[in-house]
Amino acid sequence: MAQGTRDPNYADSINYGKSQELTNMITSNAHAFAGGPAIASKLGNETVKAELGRAAWKLFHTTFARFPDKPTKEESSMLLAYIHLFQRLYPCGECATHFGEILDQYPPQVSSRSTAAAWGCHVHNEVNKSLMKPIFDCSDIGDFYDCGCAEDADENETTTTAKTHAAREATT
Ligand SMILES: Cc1cc2nc3c(=O)[nH]c(=O)nc-3n(C[C@H](O)[C@H](O)[C@H](O)COP(=O)(O)OP(=O)(O)OC[C@H]3O[C@@H](n4cnc5c(N)ncnc54)[C@H](O)[C@@H]3O)c2cc1C
Repeated sequence: MAQGTRDPNYADSINYGKSQELTNMITSNAHAFAGGPAIASKLGNETVKAELGRAAWKLFHTTFARFPDKPTKEESSMLLAYIHLFQRLYPCGECATHFGEILDQYPPQVSSRSTAAAWGCHVHNEVNKSLMKPIFDCSDIGDFYDCGCAEDADENETTTTAKTHAAREATT
């Protein structure tokens, strides 16, 4: 099956035809995802907790490194909602609770790639401090998470994909 084509046999409960409504709902309520209790229970296995942490931080920082330099309002709202949902759904419950306190103190900064990346580095350092780990030098953050994903070449493609998606939405 071609990439991006939904399998007609795939039964799910999401009405994809409403995805623009879903986007609107998320972007206009991004702040509402903040706070509230962690959803997962305590994660007792320290090895799993550390492996999960390393993988999650990698995803977290790379998301910021690939976020647009000049995001639209909708993109910034999406990132804000994502960060709050990441915190509430993080699979280590005690980590999520602790991270929620950090987010209360240092609300997410989503106005550009550089502010988001600097903020992400800062909150990771807050976790590092509480775990007595070394503090990371945030002045290196841009280079450190530069994934070498040929970003500039992809930017037009991303825009085209978004436009194609919007056009498809408009016709459904
Ligand atoms: C949201 C969240 C909350 C967590 N809360 C807890 C908790 O409450 N208790 C607990 O025991 N564990 C928690 N963890 C896991 C913990 O942060 C570590 O991931 C885990 O202990 C493994 O640590 P590590 O020394 O391998 O490096 P990690 O902290 O996992 O970092 C991985 C790599 O990222 C780089 N790095 C380090 N600091 C930064 C920074 N500031 N910015 C960018 N890159 C950096 C370094 O190269 C490092 O090797 C949490 C993880 C996450 C994602």
